[in-house]
Amino acid sequence: RRRNSRGINLNIHSQFQPLMDEMAPFLDRQYRAAPLVGFQLDADDAASCPVTCPWDHERTIGEVRWTTAEQTRQAIAVACEAFPRWDATPVEERAAILERFADALEAHMAELMALCCMEGGKLLSDGVAEVREAVDFCRYYAAHARELFGSATRLPGPTGESNELMLAGKGVFATISPWNFPIAIFCGQTVAAAVAGNTVLAKPAEQTSLIAHRVVELLHEAGMPREVVQLLPGDGPTVGAVLSGDPRITGVAFTGSTDTARLINRSLAERDNAPLPTLIAETGGLNAMIVDSTALPEQVVADVVASSYQSAGQRCSALRVLYVQEDIAERIIDTLRGAMAELAVGDPTRLATDVGPVIDEDARAGLQAHIDRLRSEGRLLAETPIDPATAARGTFIAPAAFRIDGIDALESEQFGPILHVATFKSGEIDDVIDTINARGYGLTFGIHSRNETFSRHVADRIRVGNVYVNRNIIGAVVGVQPFGGQGYSGTGPKAGGPHYLLRFATEKARTINT
Ligand code: GLU
Repeated sequence: RRRNSRGINLNIHSQFQPLMDEMAPFLDRQYRAAPLVGFQLDADDAASCPVTCPWDHERTIGEVRWTTAEQTRQAIAVACEAFPRWDATPVEERAAILERFADALEAHMAELMALCCMEGGKLLSDGVAEVREAVDFCRYYAAHARELFGSATRLPGPTGESNELMLAGKGVFATISPWNFPIAIFCGQTVAAAVAGNTVLAKPAEQTSLIAHRVVELLHEAGMPREVVQLLPGDGPTVGAVLSGDPRITGVAFTGSTDTARLINRSLAERDNAPLPTLIAETGGLNAMIVDSTALPEQVVADVVASSYQSAGQRCSALRVLYVQEDIAERIIDTLRGAMAELAVGDPTRLATDVGPVIDEDARAGLQAHIDRLRSEGRLLAETPIDPATAARGTFIAPAAFRIDGIDALESEQFGPILHVATFKSGEIDDVIDTINARGYGLTFGIHSRNETFSRHVADRIRVGNVYVNRNIIGAVVGVQPFGGQGYSGTGPKAGGPHYLLRFATEKARTINT
């Protein structure tokens, strides 16, 4: 049991206890990841690397055997050969595999949550959300695939000919996914590509290879042929570079940083004698929220804390810049200070923890440098205390909020629990929106206001993929809030939306002179 700031008992134990009991044995298990490919691997032909836990560096949780460049090329050959047969497999069969996989994910919820905690540093609630979102993606894309790929669409025949339009897979897709949603995004991209008729080479983020390996084992057990979805654990310079430079790859679905998306785009474009590729990219954000003087301060702060600090701020959708109308800024900042003082940072297997670690030492060092710079400029507004023993054990960052002049003060996305706060005067709102638009990112955006005319005006003028009014700006729900941005934030596909599968498909029109 825990009390919230108003002294109300939160009975969260009863909700999680059965899952925690089921999860316990998996917390001490050792895992092994290796390529899962459609050909025989030679024993011991690549180095293994130990995996440690981000919140307790003394704990080793398994090891990963990386895919070599040569194995990556072999896997591409297998995927090319398997493509025509897979594309000709009835969509019903392909969709049924996704649904069986969804059932398997649900049946392994406790184990997957444990892996998310141990390898990804995720809280229990985040682990549950991961599995649920992956399950939603599978069921949603299975249903859509049946609708889209099930039969050809008959078109008018005004010239006396019979015309129809049909969808098919494009070829071989590489799916390159991030560590921040090691199950949800990894599965979403991979099953979308596969159910549309493509064969898939899935490269998970190096940091979450054990999770990806376990998930692909379940996918294969659910009936996905090994040559249709192959798992290639490895880093960008080895596996990623071979994939994006190979002329046999038809498309890449990537979620990660804007800089890496640019590298992939360049590498795809520079291939000789290669088909023109498809790049589906969901990248970073410098997401803002605008709060006017009619907003409810308590609700604003609850939503700001969730948007900035849940998942330790390691979401593309997370709030980075809060713009508050001057008249209520002090009230909001005071309330924020109080809320931040109550956050608990630490071990993610504990129910009392609100903020877990960041993913690794590189991430920690980069965020800390940013914090140190803003602190030395005297910009600190609020900070969550963190126990030094906890901090020493893992890669923790104390959640912080800093005052800045505006979004232009930030050179790049800071992927962690750091919020920046700016103020604006009434009458300046259009300038603020124009500055945000001009900055070039376009993923999520929040508005807090009880003035509907104001909200509508701001929502219409801002150029982003997902606008949220009077709520937090994270946790898009599959089929309900299709997720994805524009500009520096991506090529525009909406994961969990009705048009997503179309990005993985090619259209064929057939005209028969009857
Ligand atoms: N879909 C997630 C959300 O709405 C974010 C995905 C990401 O961080 O890449 O919070």
